[in-house]
Amino acid sequence: MRLSSAFFPTLKEVPAEAQIASHRLMLRAGMIKQMSSGIYAWLPTGLKVLHNISNIVREEQNAVFAQEVLMPTLQSADLWKRSGRYDAYGPEMLRIVDRHKRDLLYGPTNEEMITDIFNQHVTSYKSLPTLLYQLQWKFRDEIRPRFGVMRAREFFMKDGYSFDIDYKSAVVTYYKMMIAYLRTFQRIGVQAIPMLADTGPIGGDLSHEFIVLAPTGESGIYFDSDFTQQNWLDQPIDIQDTNALETFFKRMTKFYAATEEKHDQEKWHKVPQNKRCEGRGIEVGQIFYFGTKYTKSMNVSVIGPDSNKFYPHMGSYGIGISRLVGAVIESSHDDKGIIWPDAIAPFQAVIINLGVKDIKCNEVCDQLYQTNSNSYLYDDRDERAGSKFNDADLMGHPWQIIVGPRSIKQGIVELKRRKSGERFELPIDHVNEFIQAYQG
Ligand code: ATP
Ligand code: MG
Repeated sequence: MRLSSAFFPTLKEVPAEAQIASHRLMLRAGMIKQMSSGIYAWLPTGLKVLHNISNIVREEQNAVFAQEVLMPTLQSADLWKRSGRYDAYGPEMLRIVDRHKRDLLYGPTNEEMITDIFNQHVTSYKSLPTLLYQLQWKFRDEIRPRFGVMRAREFFMKDGYSFDIDYKSAVVTYYKMMIAYLRTFQRIGVQAIPMLADTGPIGGDLSHEFIVLAPTGESGIYFDSDFTQQNWLDQPIDIQDTNALETFFKRMTKFYAATEEKHDQEKWHKVPQNKRCEGRGIEVGQIFYFGTKYTKSMNVSVIGPDSNKFYPHMGSYGIGISRLVGAVIESSHDDKGIIWPDAIAPFQAVIINLGVKDIKCNEVCDQLYQTNSNSYLYDDRDERAGSKFNDADLMGHPWQIIVGPRSIKQGIVELKRRKSGERFELPIDHVNEFIQAYQG
């Protein structure tokens, strides 16, 4: 993308309404635009990040054999009356009446709908486990939308649902999803710690929230610092091997990690004092096992091996994809701007042309750009060098490729790594290779 002809509405001023860094930076970098309270339009770079995160989420869901579906955002109230949640959900649910006076709602989550789909298509235990997920917009009429996409009213979520034959098998699915989530967050480039959590209105008795540490987070948290010292995914885990999954889960849950709702003083005091970390964090995902809560209330049963009907055991698994964009920035920025992890950056690099009137500079930039026009942004604007550097730092591209008239005479360009500030001087035709091979 050539910056001179692109739609990148960066802001020079810090927007007054934004209270936290990620919100300020997303507005300044032109990633989002608020359309009404808690409702955002996603502009080109913001959308790229949303897509990059979505792709990683998809790949890791598919890797544990979850199948993707897409359910509508609008749901019939009848479904929610069957589960008893239509009245229980309260004012966060946006209720709509259509022209035939039928009650609809904009889905805040999809347990009822997926259970209904399951009911219409699965009749026998032989089809279990069934594991389905979607990436879809949700609406919750939050009383106090704030912090930009972090607590929005309309937000993008990955929501997955599982149906298993019994408790034992449902818990194995839960373990698999735990692994899928750890892999997802690791690939995205953010540390999210699974912590024992309350189940809230979803119900059930086993749940973990995935928390990104941040002083601006809304969740109070307590964890053993040794948890973060482990490289949980350094050994490959066979997700078909139930024993391996169980061992992994046991090893992980030995370390204390709980949100304030589940905090247990007695257990906490068994953690060595110098390892007790108390603080705040952002919930970027949550997984639940809730047994037969919905299958029972909605009377959804299948035929078991003994020919008797039984209620399948369910779990549900959410990732706040749009919230993650903010959470990643919250944990990866400096006073100049965003520092994108490579895996989700809107562009891998920006080519900064410091000599737009210099034939040689233009030639070199064109050559670099043409071989990477999908993943490199080309700053070909006729602007001051300082303002180009500021924009590059603000937008947080992992690499800046600086092409200036003086160094180009020696066939050299300069590379800057946004994260560390390291600089490298390289011959032009080594640039792409160097970026691809860089580890650090
Ligand atoms: P919270 O406690 O923050 O209100 P929740 O526990 O009600 O969230 P879940 O039902 O667990 O949310 O939804 C799954 C994920 O969706 C959450 O972990 C979070 O990342 C994201 N999410 C929930 N509410 C919002 C929101 N208002 N704006 C953006 N993301 C949200
Ligand atoms: Mg939650």
